[in-house]
Amino acid sequence: MFCNKSYRKNNADDYRTDFPKADLHVHTTASDGAFSPRETVKLAYQKGISYLAITDHDTTAGLAEAAQECSKYELDFFPGIEFSTVYEECELHILGYNFDWTYKRVRETVIQLQNARVNRIEKMVAKLATLGIQIDFKEVRQKASVSNIGRVHLALVLMDKGIVGSIDEAFNKYLNRGCPAFVPRYKLTPCMALEIIQEAQGIPVLAHPGLSNCDYLIPLLVEKGLQGIEVFHPQHTKADELVYLQMAEKYHLMITGGSDFHGHEEKDLSNFGEMKVPFNSLKKLKNPQSNPTLII
Ligand SMILES: [Zn+2]
Ligand SMILES: [Zn+2]
Repeated sequence: MFCNKSYRKNNADDYRTDFPKADLHVHTTASDGAFSPRETVKLAYQKGISYLAITDHDTTAGLAEAAQECSKYELDFFPGIEFSTVYEECELHILGYNFDWTYKRVRETVIQLQNARVNRIEKMVAKLATLGIQIDFKEVRQKASVSNIGRVHLALVLMDKGIVGSIDEAFNKYLNRGCPAFVPRYKLTPCMALEIIQEAQGIPVLAHPGLSNCDYLIPLLVEKGLQGIEVFHPQHTKADELVYLQMAEKYHLMITGGSDFHGHEEKDLSNFGEMKVPFNSLKKLKNPQSNPTLII
């Protein structure tokens, strides 16, 4: 049971930003972001961010460019990835940090997931055709400027053609689960993602658990090597933050935060670098061998 007394020092409001700004959840054009890795790093620098992780969906394609740019601007860079995973009825996103992205199993997995994405979008294009919406797969491909094609690119084409007025409308009308053009995609299980990240010497962290509503799986994930939990995310409520701070304490998990920056909307720009990240977590990411007190 939640104990106010022992918990008081860990109240979310204690996670102040009187240390360098950080963002540990950021997407680029390597997956479904609006800005290239180069542009994203420049933007981070302009926003005064000192610690940056690039965590594109199921791909490492933006990491080399981002690493190079971060060294140019003297930002602390953490290579990352966000694996989409599914288990039972749960969709969980697993972030991996500071892993060896040249490791064979990482490379093989990323290629496998990329092929699955292409296959899925081809099927969605075919489904749209049956609804009388003619789209050439090549048009969608062109929107995915680096590598990792996804539903957002299809949404952008639907917008260009005037079929929908916004990305949200494209998802709500056609692309979300239950909508007429939806096709499920092959995904890893959370345990596979945890295993791959750990094999590649990385730190696995559960992304935005408040959006998954599958907290019952957290003890299992911890057993399988989960090391952190993203407590601070723009779509988490204050109540979510408290729930996950408590979980972090219970399971000795590192507390992370990130804006889930994609750059398509104005709110992405205002949230960029504004989520709290405890300084001890940054220290831990900078030096995984250190074992600072994980809760400040
Ligand atoms: Zn996510
Ligand atoms: Zn994300």
